[in-house]
Order: sequence, then C-alpha cells, then structure tokens
Amino acid sequence: MSGGQISRSVPESIDAETDVVVIGAGACGLVAALRAKASGAEVVVLERDASPSGSTSMSSGFVPAPATRFQRAIGVENDTPRRFETDILSKSKGKSAASLARLASDTIGPALEWLADTHGLEWIVLDDFLYPGHSRHRMHAVPEKTGAALEARLLAAVEAAEIPVITEAHVTTLYAEDLDRIAAIGITRPDGATEVLSCRALVLACNGFGGNSALVRQHIPEIADGLYYGHQGNTGDALAWGEALGARVEHVSGYQGHGSLAHPQGILISWALMMEGGIQVNSEGLRFSNEHGGYSEQAVNVLAQPGGVVWNIYDARLHVFAKGFPDYQEAMAAGAIREAADVSELARVTGVPEAALAQTLSEVALCESGRTTDPFGRDFTGKPALAAPFHAVKVTGALFHTQGGLMIDDQARVVRDDGTSFVNLFAGGGAACGVSGPDVSGYLSGNGLLTAIAFGSIAGISAGCLVTTGSIVNKVD
Ligand SMILES: Cc1cc2nc3c(=O)[nH]c(=O)nc-3n(C[C@H](O)[C@H](O)[C@H](O)COP(=O)(O)OP(=O)(O)OC[C@H]3O[C@@H](n4cnc5c(N)ncnc54)[C@H](O)[C@@H]3O)c2cc1C
Repeated sequence: MSGGQISRSVPESIDAETDVVVIGAGACGLVAALRAKASGAEVVVLERDASPSGSTSMSSGFVPAPATRFQRAIGVENDTPRRFETDILSKSKGKSAASLARLASDTIGPALEWLADTHGLEWIVLDDFLYPGHSRHRMHAVPEKTGAALEARLLAAVEAAEIPVITEAHVTTLYAEDLDRIAAIGITRPDGATEVLSCRALVLACNGFGGNSALVRQHIPEIADGLYYGHQGNTGDALAWGEALGARVEHVSGYQGHGSLAHPQGILISWALMMEGGIQVNSEGLRFSNEHGGYSEQAVNVLAQPGGVVWNIYDARLHVFAKGFPDYQEAMAAGAIREAADVSELARVTGVPEAALAQTLSEVALCESGRTTDPFGRDFTGKPALAAPFHAVKVTGALFHTQGGLMIDDQARVVRDDGTSFVNLFAGGGAACGVSGPDVSGYLSGNGLLTAIAFGSIAGISAGCLVTTGSIVNKVD
C-alpha cells in the first residue's frame, strides 16, 4: 500500500497502543521522541527504512542557533534570537512565515543546550567562515561535523532513553474518525503485512516530498529536471495526510537547492570554498553569477549553464582549508578534485577554453585588488587573491529537500485551513512549513536542521504534555 491514506473508521482490532507515535527517525523525529519521553509519555518511533538515516544522515549536520553557551565559549557574545530571526527574514526577503521564523529562532538555542545537558550531545561552533546571510558565527555541529554522526548520536540518546524505534514500519494510514483527533495509525511491513497502533498524540516527522518526482514536478517545476540528493524515502506522506485532513499547506514551491554537488560523483562540495575566495565558471570559462548570493539559489543558476554543470575554481590555500570537511576528503578519494600548476594546465584538466579562462581569472584579480567592481555584485575584498597552483572540481545543481509543508502553531500543532489547530496532530522538520518562504533563494543555510530540531523539540514537548496532563504548556523550557 502506498503512503498518505486517511481512514475515517478505526479498525476494531488494534495490535498495540501507546501515548505518542512519532513518524520518521531523522533529527526531527528523534528529538521529538526524546522530548515527549522526558514529559513522562510512552513513545514509539516508526521508521520505514531498515536502518534509520533520513536526510539528516546525508546532511553536513550544521545547525544554526543564536545566544548559546557554546558560542560564548569561543567568544561569540553578540548574537541574539532577534538577530537570527532578522537574518532568516532577510534571506527570504520577508517572505518566510513570520510566526515560524520567530518560533524557530527562540527555540533552537535552548533545544541544543537541552540535548547537551540531558542527553550528552556535544556541540562545537564553526567559526572559520560565515555562510551567506548569517551575520554571526552560529553554526553548531557535533565534533565529527557530519549529519551521519548527528543522527548516530541522536539514535544513541533515544536508545539510552529506552524509546523503541521500530524499523521497516512504513506508516501508510492515519485513522481519524472525526477528522479532528488522530486515533491510530496503520503500518505496512515490507512483506505487505499490516498492523494498527493506537495513539493519543501523533508527531509527523517524515520530512517533505523531495523523493516524489511527480509532486516535485507539480510544485517546483524549476528543479524537476535536477538531481534529488535527499533521502529517497521522503515521498510526501505528511503533505498528503495534511491535505486530506484539511490542513493549511504553505510554501510548497520553497526548497533547499545546492549549486555545488561534485559531478558525476554526487558528493557535496562545501560552499565555504566560494565564501572564502573560490569562483564558479561554466564550460565556456565564464562566470555567470554572484557566488555569494547563496548556495540554494545557485542550484538553478548552475543548471541553467551548458550541460547543467560548471567548475568550482580555487587555489592551494582553499584546498588545504577544504580538507577540513569530511565530504571534501571523500571527493578527493573519489578522484573528483583536479590540480593544475597554472592557467594552461587548468584549461587542459577542465576542458575549458584557455583564453576565456585566463580572461575570467584576470577580471577576478582586478576585483580582488579593488580596482574594479564585480558586474555580478560580489564583494571580493578581504580575502587573499586566487593564485596558482589551482584546483578545480566539476559540479552540478541539485534539490536537497523541500521547504514547504503543513502550517503549525506555536505548540507545533498542525493548523487547519480555517486557522484552528488539530488537537493531537503535531509536525516539525521537513513535514512542516519551513522558514524559507516560497522561493529557492529564501533558504538560509541551516534552515533545514533548524526546523527539524526546533519544531521537533516543541512537537515532542507539546505531545508529551498533552498525553500526560491533558493540556499543552510552554513551548520552550
Ligand atoms: C546533502 C545535504 C546536506 C544538508 N546539509 C544540511 C546542513 O548542514 N544543515 C541543515 O540545517 N540542513 C541540511 N540539510 C537539510 C537537512 O538534512 C534536513 O532539513 C533535515 O535532515 C530534515 O530532518 P527531518 O527529521 O525532517 O527529515 P529526515 O532526516 O529526512 O527524516 C525523515 C524520516 O522519515 C522517514 N519516513 C518518511 N515517510 C515515512 C512513513 N510514511 N513512515 C515511516 N517513516 C517515514 C524517512 O525514511 C526518514 O528516515 C542537508 C540536506 C542534504 C540532502
């Protein structure tokens, strides 16, 4: 059976019951489960895969959060939730859902500190470069600096908290007799067997619809021909359930793209290379954009170039810097990174016309020295000029994950079209509407894990409170 079904008649035979069911074992679902359990609720996480990974494991694992003690420990003193909220809204040109931008920026710092204090997650703050649109160093990561390590640490915390994560459990049906209160969910096993689990609260943490090419073509045609580089199992079930229940769905055309995926190896090449001085040229040796605009919108710019591929060009200094990223190490091992002693060799190893490449590099040098301004509007000053020997990697644009979804209120309850909230249905992460607005350019780096952890945290607290006290209290500790 495919996912996304709603049934209005609850089966008489129930296989098991629990307080809170969480659908999806990515960052959102695992954080929600930890929070609900901490409220005293019995919690079960259901995951369709045999081994939980989600887009969370594929990610770089960087989580933006303001005013944390981890920032203060490295001397970042002047960040606040309001400053972060302003950065989020500036990136989306004010098109993000304002209530969600405020909720996320208020909640994420306390959520990371709670994960550290209660479950021993360690956070470091990356302070060697700023992503486009962030006015402060606020990107947190676990020490391994990978999404896979973040997922592993969350899974370990969930296991230590004795929360069952049931795998190969594809939730295909929600049972909602009166279309208001979710009474149970139906699971389909890989062999086609079905089970019904009743619940008192349900958290949708099953991300968006990036893995559903028909929905991507319907809602985001501009990226439909690009590669989907997120988790394949995110096929839009939360969206389908929400629509069938009359939930308000917002910003379905919004998404996180990326303009720097090594091609054909399919390995993320950190945008830090561009922020620290690298450039992108197309197969004709021409720059085509301001690389500091944002990596998300760059997906569309890159796909518009001949063949949908371009070259990241940088130098030995940046090559050494990039080696600090696990993805880059992987790209080196896969043979994606080319080296060249000078412009002639760079032209040879990339297949780009030498004259055009030399002309582009000399124009960039003029911008770097401040003698001319960049026609694309990039500010090249403040970073060392590119210098031989050079490095290059061929990249393409990709869809990482969708940003639209179910509108939620301050308690992470799913909101109906008429503005009222469902009693016991919660959502977070990619299942909920994000904070990036309706355009690819609205994605501020980190908006994905931000809403996974912040909204997952609120959803877990709310669902736990609902089942243990009969009502919902504060969203943040
Ligand atoms: C390459 C890459 C790099 C990224 N880097 C970053 C970054 O550094 N920082 C950042 O903030 N964001 C980043 N993102 C985005 C980030 O990964 C996501 O926003 C985040 O992981 C979403 O978390 P989630 O818990 O909502 O979803 P997921 O982690 O995708 O988890 C959803 C889970 O639900 C399961 N599921 C789906 N449907 C069902 C169903 N019907 N029944 C049962 N289970 C179901 C899926 O199998 C999956 O395990 C990146 C994304 C990619 C692809």
